[in-house]
Amino acid sequence: MNVRCNYCRQSFNLSRDYLEAALAKATEKNQKYHTVECINCRKVIKVSVAQMKRYAPETEPSAEEAETED
Ligand SMILES: [Zn+2]
Repeated sequence: MNVRCNYCRQSFNLSRDYLEAALAKATEKNQKYHTVECINCRKVIKVSVAQMKRYAPETEPSAEEAETED
């Protein structure tokens, strides 16, 4: 997921793994925004949790294990 810094206009990418971990924390704390630090200017950027969910939707636990051919 691409994030653009509001202060210095630097854009950077958040990995799927990062998003999943951040989403889990945000959900646990009931937050609507997750904050990330800009890689360039180190300011704090707010990222909407709803937007993050679109990039890292909850995966169905059995999806990958459905095929059990031996
Ligand atoms: Zn910045």
